Amino acid sequence: TTETLTDMMETSAKRFAPAVALDFFGSSTTYAELGEQISRAANGLRKLGVSPGDRVALVLPNCPQHVVAFYAVLRLGAIVVEHNPLYTDRELRHQFEDHGARVAIVWDKVYESVRTFPKDMGVADVVTVDLTRAMPFSKRLALKLPIKKAQDARASLTAGPGKGAISWESIVGARKLHPSHQRPVLTDTAVLQYTSGTTGAPKGAILSHYNLRANAAQGSAWVAGLRPGDETVYGVLPMFHAYGLTLCLTFAMSIGARLVLFPKFDEKLVLDAAKHAPPTFLPAVPPIYDRLVTAAAKKKVSLAGIRFAISGAMNLPVSIVERWETATGGLLVEGYGMTEASPIVAGNPIGPSRRPGTVGVPFPSTDIRVVDPENPTIERGFDEEGELLVAGPQVFSGYWDRPSESAEVLLPGGWLRTGDIVRVSADGFITIVDRLKELIITGGFNVSPSEVEETLLSHPDITDAAAVGLPSPNGGEDVVAVVVLRPGVELDVSAVREYCRTRLSSYKVPRRIVEVDDLPRSLLGKVLRREVRNRLQGK
Ligand code: ATP
Ligand code: MG
Repeated sequence: TTETLTDMMETSAKRFAPAVALDFFGSSTTYAELGEQISRAANGLRKLGVSPGDRVALVLPNCPQHVVAFYAVLRLGAIVVEHNPLYTDRELRHQFEDHGARVAIVWDKVYESVRTFPKDMGVADVVTVDLTRAMPFSKRLALKLPIKKAQDARASLTAGPGKGAISWESIVGARKLHPSHQRPVLTDTAVLQYTSGTTGAPKGAILSHYNLRANAAQGSAWVAGLRPGDETVYGVLPMFHAYGLTLCLTFAMSIGARLVLFPKFDEKLVLDAAKHAPPTFLPAVPPIYDRLVTAAAKKKVSLAGIRFAISGAMNLPVSIVERWETATGGLLVEGYGMTEASPIVAGNPIGPSRRPGTVGVPFPSTDIRVVDPENPTIERGFDEEGELLVAGPQVFSGYWDRPSESAEVLLPGGWLRTGDIVRVSADGFITIVDRLKELIITGGFNVSPSEVEETLLSHPDITDAAAVGLPSPNGGEDVVAVVVLRPGVELDVSAVREYCRTRLSSYKVPRRIVEVDDLPRSLLGKVLRREVRNRLQGK
């Protein structure tokens, strides 16, 4: 690819001009209008002093203004930094300290917290976005915004943000940016994207225009049978995470799709929207497919017509694939990626040769190796477990302001250490075993927590489970499991251990089993084993 994301968006704005680009509660924006708004917003931000290389923080749920702001910042050669708007003050402050953005474009609900950031953190200008402005009037009145912090919808309609905020409307109200204004180049950083923080504090991955444009192009090559200008993509994944960012903000825009935006996943909203703009493509995560199929069956809404669904971020149970494909008549395939790879590395072929239980084959132009995690120069053979290394145009160049962590994961030759233990079959299909950091080492053996969890989950009384390693009194680690039980059932530890003993080698059987009400999960629904461990240790 030789296009920047800015070139790509401008091409789409021309090529798909009259087509609907964004749909938010039924209120739509065409590609031509989107192109124009981006140009105006870029000029508005330029007047605030945004220059090449500046970080501009976006703290926004999925909404049309998010898309405009993203491309306006890029047009100026500046760097987008995405944030979860439901993060606490402390979490946001930590990220702002890290990246040092001078301008922030925020959901008006979080303005009050960003405003309290100390002056020396350098946030000079805060632009506030009122989500309801992008909605049709009727929806605004009937509004029950599906986001925790926005329960008081009427307040958001009447009470404006505090003194000192700049309204988004005044930014997009500018004239169009002069076409000769300096443009970004391919190697410029486009986005600082924080990792999910599953194994440690979130780190800002530096992603260039080249990295992100390449991953969108690899995605188009992957999904054979795409109809440019004629797909409807549902944006239920948060665009402030790498997965939603690439599928919605770049891939969907590159193929001229109608992107239907949801500020939060809610099965009722999705089924409602499907009545006027049925989806053809739904990128999501396993819990979303699960909830949608159940809700659609209950409400007798048809999901037929969703031709493609791709799942990532966590392991996809085969039972969900079966239910989804029966309900839609389309395909649900699993892919795999990570923030550091923009994010997609591999995907199943979308067709009869896909292989459930695996994450498919490497993306086009992507090379993989499987190595000994202790010594990455030692290669592992087919079907042998080892750490996955990845190289390709989507691989990042390092973490923001973290040279030693960057050097740890980027090996000579551009190989990225994924930290994931995998097996690769002779015909190239990748199976994820577990994260390296989460393997439990007990008495010299490696225990994969996923295997223990699968066994526990197969027990009829257990509805959720996580296995972790805790320091053992005699050195090494003990396998410890936490389980959520079916309502009304009592935990019989020795019976559950006996159940495991008939299915697992003895060193894998949990030493301790603890009942809990629920498991801590990330925003996409991944179980946070680190948090489980902390809770067990009373931290
Ligand atoms: P951090 O790096 O901050 O600890 P994180 O690794 O969870 O957090 P992400 O970049 O969002 O942050 O997630 C990438 C990881 O998600 C991969 O390294 C892998 O462990 C996991 N993952 C992604 N896709 C799949 C999948 N299909 N099956 C199993 N695990 C997956
Ligand atoms: Mg990671």
